[in-house]
Amino acid sequence: VTERTMINLPKNLELDKQCTVKHPFSLEGIGVHTGVSQRVNVSPLPAQSGIWFVKKEADNLTYFPALMSHSQPFNLATCVGVNRKNSVKTVEHLLSALYGIGVDNALISVEGDEIPIMDGSALPFVEAILKVGIKTLPANKRILILKDEFYQESHGSSISFVPGSSKTFRVSFEIEFDHPRVGLMDRDFDIDPETYVKEICKARTFGFWKDRIALHKIGLGLGASEENTIILTSKGIRNKEKLRYPDEFVRHKICDALGDLALTGVYLRGNLRLSKSGHALNRQFSKWVFEHAMKKASLISTRPPQVNVLA
Ligand SMILES: [Zn+2]
Repeated sequence: VTERTMINLPKNLELDKQCTVKHPFSLEGIGVHTGVSQRVNVSPLPAQSGIWFVKKEADNLTYFPALMSHSQPFNLATCVGVNRKNSVKTVEHLLSALYGIGVDNALISVEGDEIPIMDGSALPFVEAILKVGIKTLPANKRILILKDEFYQESHGSSISFVPGSSKTFRVSFEIEFDHPRVGLMDRDFDIDPETYVKEICKARTFGFWKDRIALHKIGLGLGASEENTIILTSKGIRNKEKLRYPDEFVRHKICDALGDLALTGVYLRGNLRLSKSGHALNRQFSKWVFEHAMKKASLISTRPPQVNVLA
């Protein structure tokens, strides 16, 4: 990855209206865990549909919404499906891109078990979305105004949410790794499409070189390489490509957290603080938000979209 096309959001983006993609797009690449080449297609859906997956296997099409009701337990990536077996894993960067830009409605059609990892960031998805364009729809965005606070900790990690009276959604993340290139990193951003595109979507996944054999033994990380992961050795970084930001690691954690939050089906206002959190803990917060969202049923659609996706 050297030359990058300029990515810009449309100037007339209405932040309080629902959106979809203007045209379908496809991306292909290997899955970071399966190591198998995968194809994903994203196409428009009408207002109030939400984000849906359709998994194609032989002649079977299985539909499921990108919502916590269909989240499957998996600690190294975000996984959605009807059950553990019939699911799609590593959905977080694509969902993060849709959520970060503000695409509320789309159908994600998948032929394999995993979303391609591309360059390890959400950037290739952002570029693809912006290339086909964003269409504003005649419905208000689903914004959930929470009154309660949330706090959960687990094994030295924590996640807390304090609802704010302001119009912003602020996410702060702290990580700490005993590594000369990482150490302690703490960042926060007011999340909006512009900040997402500029500051968050380019940050890549990272992993430790020493962990690879243990991962391979359990059949994971089979597609990981310097092309899609920042690989940390005991003293440095294996990749030829330089870091995209000095604190790329913590920015990627924010990118992932937004992908996990996308499964709530709603946008939030307030302050979210994550400390050393990962997918498992993020999922607990998303579950709590989703339960609140479901009480306001009109916020969330769980009916399969009425579209024909055979192609
Ligand atoms: Zn990630």
